Amino acid sequence: MSFYDELQLIDFDEWSRAVLAAGRKDVISALNARRRTVNDFAALISPAAAEFLPQMTREAERLTRERFGQTINMYLPLYLNNICSNCCKYCGFSASNHFRRRILNAAEVEQECRAIQKLGYETILVVTGESARGGMDYFREVIPVVKKYASYLMMEVQPLDADDYRELRELGADCVCVYQETYNEPAYRDNHPHGKKKDMRYRMETPERLGKAGMDKIGMGILLGLADFRADACMLAHHIAYMRKHYWRSRLSLSFPRLRPAEGGFTPPHPVSEKELIQYICAFRLFDPELEISISTRESAGFRDAVVPIAINSISAGSSTQPGGYAVDKHDLPQFVINDDRSADEIADHFRKLGLDVIWHTSRIGG
Ligand code: SF4
Repeated sequence: MSFYDELQLIDFDEWSRAVLAAGRKDVISALNARRRTVNDFAALISPAAAEFLPQMTREAERLTRERFGQTINMYLPLYLNNICSNCCKYCGFSASNHFRRRILNAAEVEQECRAIQKLGYETILVVTGESARGGMDYFREVIPVVKKYASYLMMEVQPLDADDYRELRELGADCVCVYQETYNEPAYRDNHPHGKKKDMRYRMETPERLGKAGMDKIGMGILLGLADFRADACMLAHHIAYMRKHYWRSRLSLSFPRLRPAEGGFTPPHPVSEKELIQYICAFRLFDPELEISISTRESAGFRDAVVPIAINSISAGSSTQPGGYAVDKHDLPQFVINDDRSADEIADHFRKLGLDVIWHTSRIGG
């Protein structure tokens, strides 16, 4: 039984109500638990837990340092194309938005990689839209180029079959991230009206195919703002527990993109505040201390400065969210608006002063 089948037995609205019904006693019991269940997680994500945020942040920080030491990893997204046949209502790359589409060829990818190398990065996150033109044939051409510059290569691309993931692993991919966006079926259907992404089951079973293919790390997450974020978080916690049980060889990472303004004028129906986001991140750290958590430049400098020392394992800095944005072509449409535009060195310096070891790649540690 896949997680999609299990999800049919879990009622989203019931979890939504259960989270709202959680009280102080449930939160205290969750805080005191040695191993936390999804029910404990629901209490920690509840409005009743907001007054316990100081205790939650202290415990999250303790667990983060115990498991990961004083480290923070730097990575950079590399957008290879903005061609997409899906029509996600919240995304600037949606097929329904009309602008000049761009797909980098191998020579341009190399040019971008050289620029990234100059910035000091060796952990690279390849990002593409979802299209047949940007599929496996394209990856066979460009991934070996990126791999020359990446000591750790991550990909955030369209969901693929298990055999494709095995091949990508051989080409050098270490981690693949495929975010579910939302576990709420009506909200999923509404926001993904056309294209392959309409198939919620195929997307939701992607982490399992990645586990079968033996991927080192699997990136999971939801897009905050599409549906009730507390119930969505409980579904994600169920999914994580499922992956831990069935695919324990792969590491798991989480990312928490909050919806930002994008081309097309999308307004998030369920906005999430910064305070709620901190509670959300701490709740996941307390639920599963082994999770690797990253935060992107979608969030503001002040917010990232506050949350990184508490629970974050990796951050991007100096990012461009457009294909060719580092060297080849700097003026295309970005996928979303960057909110922290400090340079990588500025950010590294900031966290080094707070006592963190900034990891750029295996041989460069420090600011
Ligand atoms: S979110 Fe991804 S799949 Fe959806 S339109 Fe944007 S690039 Fe395409």
